Amino acid sequence: MGLSIPFNKPYTTGQELQFISSAIASGHLSGNGQYSKFCQEFFENRYSIKKALVTTSCTDALEMCAMLLDIKEGDEVIIPSFTFVSSALAFVRQGANIVFADSRADHPGVNELSIEKLITDRTKAIVVVHYAGVSCDMDHIMTLAKKFSIAVVEDAAQAIDSFYVSKDGSKRPLGSIGHLAAYSFHETKNVQCGEGGLLAINDDTYVKRAEIIWEKGTNRAQFFRGQVNKYGWVDTGSSFLPSEITAAFLYAQLQELNNIQQKRISIWQKYQASLKDWAQPIGINLPVIPSFATNNAHMFYLTCNSLKQRTELIQHLKKNGVMAVFHYQSLHISDFYKDRYTGEPLVNTERYSDNLVRLPFFYNLTDQEQNYIIEALYNF
Ligand SMILES: *Cc1c(COP(=O)(O)O)cnc(C)c1O
Repeated sequence: MGLSIPFNKPYTTGQELQFISSAIASGHLSGNGQYSKFCQEFFENRYSIKKALVTTSCTDALEMCAMLLDIKEGDEVIIPSFTFVSSALAFVRQGANIVFADSRADHPGVNELSIEKLITDRTKAIVVVHYAGVSCDMDHIMTLAKKFSIAVVEDAAQAIDSFYVSKDGSKRPLGSIGHLAAYSFHETKNVQCGEGGLLAINDDTYVKRAEIIWEKGTNRAQFFRGQVNKYGWVDTGSSFLPSEITAAFLYAQLQELNNIQQKRISIWQKYQASLKDWAQPIGINLPVIPSFATNNAHMFYLTCNSLKQRTELIQHLKKNGVMAVFHYQSLHISDFYKDRYTGEPLVNTERYSDNLVRLPFFYNLTDQEQNYIIEALYNF
């Protein structure tokens, strides 16, 4: 019997409505209320983040980063090409020229060895993307950034509860390492609230201004703490705060984080164990976790040996009712950017754009469904 398996089903814990009811009862539904604070403290305490601010999306948190770093017309920002549009868009809006970096050969994350030659005296920031929640080589990148006095922004959209592992074996949470970082709680991420994000500020010098940019360019946050006796327009900014309804929903999810992660990791491991012997003879690669990274089971992807093989694989799965999807179109050859791109061809990036495919992956994927997907792959 055929099943029909979507690519994603947003997970809800069952506690969201209760938390939202309690937010309604509190009489405070706009931003920066108690549930926003609970979510922020959760990140600050659990992941050693100096200051966290919940936002309406990861895209918005990245826009805050671009504003905080004072990115101006003509500044250069180094960003991997194999990423979601938002990683670059936030900086393009401030007038930056994007200098695209290639992926590693063994992983879609940025090739850390390719970065130094892209640095010029106009480089203001390096944006790293922890693809699939798997860390980039942060020691290497932070050392470079320090040497050239460049800020580092972590696009940690997919990277909740994942870590960078130093050579001495110590682990640091992703999102706590760069000067600034952005998480996403979009419905496709491990923890979700429909649309939502969080800005992590790990360098004290940005904290005060971040609160102002977050609150429409006003010093309202300071006013509410009694630090100034009136509030007004003091800087640039926008409305980057989510309502307490969103924050309450998110907080219900964060309560279940350990449970969510445990379940997702078991789904990931089952894919890995079941597909190992199938993939290799037909030239398909399973995900590689570099020695400096941990796996937070954000996604399970396959790298096919050609665009043709990938197209056939997606078709085959679709015929069997299984929705597998590909992404990303390399940003340096996107319609929006290709005419401005002057760098070299990015061979690994383009290979992942052509060959990578993501399998259905969500908390409520049943054993029966996963067995069915694996069986369908065996029949390819
Ligand atoms: C999901 C995602 C984003 C965007 O997150 P939103 O919360 O939808 O704005 C940005 N970067 C990466 C790498 C993502 O996966």
